[in-house]
Amino acid sequence: MPWTKELITQTVSRVTLPDGSTLHNAVEWAAVCENYLSLKLHTPQFTQPHERGLAAAACRRALDSLSTEVGAPIQSLIVEFVDHLGTVIQTVRFQDQPTPPATPKPTPPPPAGHRPISGLEHPKPDSPPLRNIRHVIAVGAGKGGVGKSTIAVNLAVGLARRGFAVGILDGDIYGPSLPTLLRLGPLEQVVHAGRLQPFLVHGVKAITLGKLVEADRPLIWRGPMAHGAFKQLTEQTEWGNLDYLIIDLPPGTGDVPLTMAQMLQLSGAVVVCTPQRVAQDDAIRATRMFQQLGIEILGVVENMSYFIGDDGKTYDIFGRGGAEQMAQRLGVPFLGAVPITMSLRENGDAGSPTANFEGNTDLARALEGVITQVEHQTTLAAMRSGNRKPSLTIS
Ligand code: ADP
Repeated sequence: MPWTKELITQTVSRVTLPDGSTLHNAVEWAAVCENYLSLKLHTPQFTQPHERGLAAAACRRALDSLSTEVGAPIQSLIVEFVDHLGTVIQTVRFQDQPTPPATPKPTPPPPAGHRPISGLEHPKPDSPPLRNIRHVIAVGAGKGGVGKSTIAVNLAVGLARRGFAVGILDGDIYGPSLPTLLRLGPLEQVVHAGRLQPFLVHGVKAITLGKLVEADRPLIWRGPMAHGAFKQLTEQTEWGNLDYLIIDLPPGTGDVPLTMAQMLQLSGAVVVCTPQRVAQDDAIRATRMFQQLGIEILGVVENMSYFIGDDGKTYDIFGRGGAEQMAQRLGVPFLGAVPITMSLRENGDAGSPTANFEGNTDLARALEGVITQVEHQTTLAAMRSGNRKPSLTIS
């Protein structure tokens, strides 16, 4: 029996607290990916942070007592308390590692509906995924179409041009863009010794689901199938040693990007946003999502920031600076602004990202600036996380 939203909701609804009150009808939302659990509770009866802390601890105990039956100890539980408008007022995170069950269980079958990519070996339980990768960076966006994949690809290629060993994983499983952006079309996906071999293009190791399914088949996947495929791509790819692995997450703040971000030991997240107000609102939600998962925000990139015409004049089509002001308001770093340029779009469509860095163009300078900032912020994040210990956090 795997963890499911229904099982979590039922278990938490039955929790009785020391004062006799219950969490009946308190669960607003639950999400699960394997043994990573998240839930939102609406509990107006608790007005004090410590009361909510006790309620969260009671949820954890109730869920823990089920984990032997489920066959999967909880690896991470995030309990968010929301008000009547759905605004998060308190987050309680349990990130400790529970003791594994005494008798190892057989590997559970994949979630219903997900057909595993065949020919791959199962990852060994004692080999943590991505262990030879120094920094894993997620690139997310509140909205689709803001240039998230374009920034992710150029970030990967730019870091590789600086001599780093870089991989990129297309986690945007509903609309994988890497086959186009890196022109993987003519290449065959190779599986060697039970492991997916990433494509080596533009100095970057790349893997995408887009090469494992037919290009024109719609990817209408529900959560568990999406997670299963994402997990296979991350864990069963032969990455080798990498300095950076860039993960192009699906846009938005729904279950899928949220649990994907939760599944990985991320060094930090880059949020891509265009300057308009509507894009900012969504980017704020994406930033909050990462923060609530305890993932450090490396910063915000303002894409399609401005346009330089043939007359040499700069046009602020979408209101340049909007994303920078948003970053300031949120207290997160601003990583730079990338202009709207015909060549970025053309090189994207042609799968030639290297061309974006050639010549002393506005675009090349802007991209190099973003890459320098990402490098700095990643180093700072790594220094900070070196001091962090797994703990129960109440914020
Ligand atoms: P997302 O991943 O957010 O859905 P994409 O990276 O796929 O967005 O970009 C959407 C489209 O916009 C692509 O055709 C891409 O080439 C184009 N694009 C992205 N950023 C820019 C830019 N700064 N200038 C011109 N075109 C851009």
